Amino acid sequence: MSNRVPSTKDGTASAGGLAVALEGALRSHGGLWFGWSGKTVDRAPDPPEIVQSGNITFAVMDLPKRDFDLYYGGFANRALWPICHYRLDLMQIDRNHTEGYFRVNRAFAQALAPLLRPDDVIWIHDYHFIPLAAELRALGFRNRMGFFLHIPWPPSDIASALPAYCDLLQGLASYDVVGFHTPQDADNFRGCLIREKIGQPIEGGSYKVGDHRFQIGVFPVGIDHAAFSETARAAQQNPLVRRMRSSMGDRALIIGVDRLDYSKGIRERIEAFSCFIRSNPGFRNRVTYLQVTPKSRSEVPEYKRMQHEIAEHAGWTNGNLGEVDWTPIRYVNRSVGHRALAGLYRMARVGLVTPLRDGMNLVAKEYVAAQDGNDPGVLILSRFAGAAYELEEAILVNPYDTEGTAAAIARALNMSLQERRDRWSAMMARLQANGVDDWCRNFLNALASDLVAGAPAAGPVEPGRRKSSSRARTAPMPG
Ligand code: UDP
Repeated sequence: MSNRVPSTKDGTASAGGLAVALEGALRSHGGLWFGWSGKTVDRAPDPPEIVQSGNITFAVMDLPKRDFDLYYGGFANRALWPICHYRLDLMQIDRNHTEGYFRVNRAFAQALAPLLRPDDVIWIHDYHFIPLAAELRALGFRNRMGFFLHIPWPPSDIASALPAYCDLLQGLASYDVVGFHTPQDADNFRGCLIREKIGQPIEGGSYKVGDHRFQIGVFPVGIDHAAFSETARAAQQNPLVRRMRSSMGDRALIIGVDRLDYSKGIRERIEAFSCFIRSNPGFRNRVTYLQVTPKSRSEVPEYKRMQHEIAEHAGWTNGNLGEVDWTPIRYVNRSVGHRALAGLYRMARVGLVTPLRDGMNLVAKEYVAAQDGNDPGVLILSRFAGAAYELEEAILVNPYDTEGTAAAIARALNMSLQERRDRWSAMMARLQANGVDDWCRNFLNALASDLVAGAPAAGPVEPGRRKSSSRARTAPMPG
């Protein structure tokens, strides 16, 4: 279950790495992918629309416009998102938002209930659906339920600013497995449980709340590195990549790719680039910094404000640093397709990935996978991105430290071929050891593990209610 469900119009899931991995896991066992349709309506929504594609059933439901605004634009993106990214200054606490979030979760649980079978293993994704297991349990379901959080989880001092904080913790404690990207996120979550005296730690890192046992696990998401490397190699012939190359002359390319989001540190990065040029005048007119930044969540006021602010800052910096024949920053406010993006990564001498806080950051991994191993570029990576736990051979920076990040850019551009190769090989080995399929399998194995140990996998209280579902069904998903 995820907020967005891949398009099913042509019977295939969308091309994103994560979607492909999840689809692969579902295809091999048969299953149901449930979530929001992407549409809002002005009346009570119809029952979920169901599309069968091979042995996967896609089920999506519309949401009333007002509920969507409260749940998604309100609680999820004005309370959970900023607080989980350590931005208490940007949070908005609003009781209507909070009620809307819990109400929509209840509506999703009620719509999902008739489609569930007693032996279904349920994997719920991301911050939109924290209370979902509790809602399903309240309806009587005893299925195995796992939750994976794709964004960071902050320390208790910050997390406790969340509206309905204890309800959210109790909600998470209703799953059988709660997964995070990094050990730090998992530790932070444990700290919250301890401080609020929710449950007790038991053997093997599990927790017990009343009669219910659950595990807290670390599952860093990976990418399909082999496919991405191949795409990057082939993309050298991509028209956009070729145009970009011929427009560069012999300048070195520095690339940043981020949704327009305050967690990504784009303004700080522009400032660091500017500092780099000012303190390394020898690089004037010898580098181009391309910042690809598709707009996102423009309906949320903080995002709309930031759109203006960053565009203004990029323009101002170009005005100050540029010359008649050199635009230092190319700031592009639209999305670039994966193929062209892979080619641009491969062309770039430096990948500048400096979020102020990020759950994982797939761009960092994609940049590494896209490189030519004989002549790889250098990844500069924020120590506050989840990816820094695995990619420690990147040049790790504190993105708040403008001069430090500027010095890292100079270091990357001056790095010897041997050092670039050594760092790249070590990072590539990590990507190979933990691909997106591994992530999927590891999570599902953890979700299955207690099953093997004999934990209850009983069906819901009223199983007869759900027997009408006609979708293909095989064994539980864990491999
Ligand atoms: N992306 C893309 N085109 C763009 C910008 C981003 O396809 O113009 C993709 C990028 O390749 C990556 C994803 O969007 O797969 C961004 O994931 P990440 O974890 O870096 O950040 P998020 O947006 O999930 O916070």
